[in-house]
Amino acid sequence: MLGLVVFGAFAYVLRPSDSGSASAPVSTDSAIDIAAKKAAANAAAGAEAANAIEQRAWAIGQYATAVPPTDGVNAGTSTTGNLVALTFDDGPGKDTWDVLALLKRYKMKATFFVIGQNVVNNPGVIEAAVADGHVVADHSMTHASLPSLDKAGLKSEIVGTKELITKAAGRPPTLMRPPFGDFTGKTNAYSRAQGMLPVLWTIDSDDWALQDPGTIAANVLNSPALKPGAIILLHDGSMNRQMTVNALPMILDGLKARGLRSVTVPELLRLGPPSIARPGDYTLSDYATGSN
Ligand SMILES: [Zn+2]
Repeated sequence: MLGLVVFGAFAYVLRPSDSGSASAPVSTDSAIDIAAKKAAANAAAGAEAANAIEQRAWAIGQYATAVPPTDGVNAGTSTTGNLVALTFDDGPGKDTWDVLALLKRYKMKATFFVIGQNVVNNPGVIEAAVADGHVVADHSMTHASLPSLDKAGLKSEIVGTKELITKAAGRPPTLMRPPFGDFTGKTNAYSRAQGMLPVLWTIDSDDWALQDPGTIAANVLNSPALKPGAIILLHDGSMNRQMTVNALPMILDGLKARGLRSVTVPELLRLGPPSIARPGDYTLSDYATGSN
């Protein structure tokens, strides 16, 4: 981009009409103008193409549109590419920066299900995550259990966070994860009407219990569900998440050793029909003391 700006300035300086020289051949002027216009058009087309790629990266996979309107998803099913999806809930927070640095080092992508009030209190994190190619999605405004809320409550929790993400990320979220994994057909239908697909998970790392990093990593890497299509639940905010940060290199090394690579959830859902999560599959009682 800088090169184009410099080129544009150079072309501007060379314009005979600005130099006051009537002897300069008009054809040269035109050639430079045409070249500059072409370069500008190419730059615009490039920016548009890049933006389209970004938009596509956030779009829910083509197969996800077949999910019934009162259901969500909990895994991909394709084995193409040996892909899984790391997901981080309850951020952003101060530990999110460490998570981003590790993901960058390992060249892996993730999906961040953020809490609206944490977005407000941690400016700049979402922008950094998006710049790194990660996807940011909705995890409610205050981590409320959605089924108990009326429509005004759902709007405040779900739409409020959607708007904060849209403002910070430059595009609206396309995924929603209900706090505590607690959802009904009604809350799912509400999220779907807001353009967001409910996403649960395949593997719970249990990192919310603040176990030691080795145990957190083992919970992921030794899970029988760790195979292509798996959606893995971790946490990066709302409390000290250094245990998760310390477990992450082990998890990333373990994925690599198994030939698996983490991509964003939309990327995972683009490969094939997802596994459906229906109301009742995940309930508060499963996570009585957790903070999923
Ligand atoms: Zn949560």
